[in-house]
Amino acid sequence: MKRKTFFLCLFLSAALLFCGCQATLTTTTKVTTQAEKKGVISPEKAKSIKKSTAKIAKADSKRREEFTPEQEYYIGRSVAAVIMNKYPSYTSQPVNEYLNLIGQALAQVSDMPEIFLGYRVLILNSDEINAFATPGGHIFITKGLLRCCRTEDAVAAVLAHEIGHIQLKHGIRAIKQERLIEFGKTIVTEIGGDKLLETFDGAIGDFTNMMINTGYSRPFEYAADDVAQTLLRRLGYDPNGLVEVLMVMEKKLNPEDTGFGKTHPPPQDRIDKVLKKTGIKYSPVLTPQVRQIRFMKNIGNI
Ligand SMILES: [Zn+2]
Repeated sequence: MKRKTFFLCLFLSAALLFCGCQATLTTTTKVTTQAEKKGVISPEKAKSIKKSTAKIAKADSKRREEFTPEQEYYIGRSVAAVIMNKYPSYTSQPVNEYLNLIGQALAQVSDMPEIFLGYRVLILNSDEINAFATPGGHIFITKGLLRCCRTEDAVAAVLAHEIGHIQLKHGIRAIKQERLIEFGKTIVTEIGGDKLLETFDGAIGDFTNMMINTGYSRPFEYAADDVAQTLLRRLGYDPNGLVEVLMVMEKKLNPEDTGFGKTHPPPQDRIDKVLKKTGIKYSPVLTPQVRQIRFMKNIGNI
């Protein structure tokens, strides 16, 4: 699919997601007609888009609340590109393979083991304590955050938290309705191809800024912690791994810090919530020796 046409389809899906049926049909008709006039899409394609949009708009509301896995992947890929432009990557192959193995194992025991093109873990060569997940399944973790982990169970807890954000669709849900409406207006009035790409890039920039600088809402963070606890238990990791890494972060983070310090609730709040919810008392992580040996080999000197 041509890039311009793809973005048009992506916008139409977004409109379906956030606007009422009638408003969506009106917007879709306008946008598609403009796109056809400007030669961005062919008359056949315009006819097909109008027909399929009408069909989707008639479908039940649950269906309208979802992007396709392919669309989520392409939004995620654009966000990942912005993150990789901001942070250098850490290219050690054994360490990347080690983290991807843990990530894949966690995904396999999750409620959403399969996503379009799968989950991928990438390490960012940064001292900042941070981790992100894009809607498309890219999980980023900084060296700074890996240095807060004392066991593989703690590393797994961080990855499981990010998998939680992906599976609960926090990234997509955080795209503001107002932004999409603004995006739609720009498309209707400025349908020129370059402007369309610029506007889409602007929306992706806003979204990435939210992920890096402001973060998700607190309920989203606590919900991702719940998923993390579940996945750790299912895979046989000590669920105290999450509390362990949060305790280290509590000591290391300053209120002025960028990264996790800014985008997540204070670690102590998360610890209190996790312990209250699970009804457990924290005790140091019990990790088998063989697991600790491979953790030290890969992460010990990062
Ligand atoms: Zn989070």
